[in-house]
Amino acid sequence: HQLMSDSLFIINSFAREYFTDTLFNSEEGQNVGVSYFEERGFTEETIRKFQLGYCLNTRDAFAQTALAKGYNLEYLQKTGLVTIRNEQPADNYRGRVIFPIHNQSGKILGFGARILVKSDRAPKYINSPENEIYVKSRVLYGTYFARHAIDKLNECLLVEGYTDVISLHQAGVENVVASSGTSLTQDQLRLIKKYTNNLTIIYDGDSAGIKAALRGLDMAVEESLNVKLVLLPDKEDPDSYVQRIGAAAFRTFIEENKQDFVLFKLQLSMQEAGNDSNKKSQLVNEIAETISKIDKAEDFTRQQDYIRQCSQLLRIDEQGLVALVNKFIR
Ligand code: ATP
Ligand code: MN
Ligand code: MN
Ligand code: MN
Repeated sequence: HQLMSDSLFIINSFAREYFTDTLFNSEEGQNVGVSYFEERGFTEETIRKFQLGYCLNTRDAFAQTALAKGYNLEYLQKTGLVTIRNEQPADNYRGRVIFPIHNQSGKILGFGARILVKSDRAPKYINSPENEIYVKSRVLYGTYFARHAIDKLNECLLVEGYTDVISLHQAGVENVVASSGTSLTQDQLRLIKKYTNNLTIIYDGDSAGIKAALRGLDMAVEESLNVKLVLLPDKEDPDSYVQRIGAAAFRTFIEENKQDFVLFKLQLSMQEAGNDSNKKSQLVNEIAETISKIDKAEDFTRQQDYIRQCSQLLRIDEQGLVALVNKFIR
């Protein structure tokens, strides 16, 4: 297992260098890859920091180079870099820009590869398949670049995508990691908890983004994370928004629009329930269950604060809510 992991890390490291070299030192890399990143507003310093790359739009230039160097075909397939097409090894990421995914110590777990021109026939991103070193549910993109800032600021910003992390770094906001489009897992929350208890979720301003964020709520509360939410204007993501309004305005927007996640969820459910009394009692139960998950030993006042604020919002008796919360605690 250890040998296998080491082999995959070595292949990824080789591939990372190869794709960086292709990006900067080939004509196609310059004309297609570098141009793409520049159009997105990424500076050369940013491209180099995140070790971005480009995979030539050929059948197998990478595969042939790797095989000639003696890398094992089976392992190359395991990393997802090489696939078998018409019974021959072929490049999986051809014609795509490459985002290496680093672990906490900077070793490369896998890659995200983005298509340059939107297409109905191919996915926008291809990510590494799961293998001995790349376990999607345990990875947060950007941890390696963000860990010191998260530690120092005692806050972790969570965004959806690779390019959100990169643009925010370039704007000087460095305490940021990405869930890469999946809903949050317990392992990811525990990773964040190693650095801070304060999590601020900044998801895309579409309803898919908000729903994805809400799914992680109870888990985050159970992990005793203090979760805030920032909703971006419609059709914006952190990348597009910071590039549009600039670093200073973006920071101000975040500070002014942070809201408590538990209270946000309650308000959202209240809107949905309207005057339906069945729905209303169901949501009272749900919020009581959420509040019950706050670890009392760790954070007693926080639980009390929520009980007070939620009973006010719901216009129900505080002691009634206390009783309900206690029913969920055993
Ligand atoms: P870009 O700005 O380059 O279009 P994005 O990060 O804004 O990228 P979103 O569509 O918001 O892209 O998706 C968020 C994240 O979800 C991506 O960064 C990527 O990690 C992941 N993702 C998106 N589309 C796919 C896909 N088709 N397959 C796998 N992962 C994807
Ligand atoms: Mn989205
Ligand atoms: Mn985007
Ligand atoms: Mn996005």
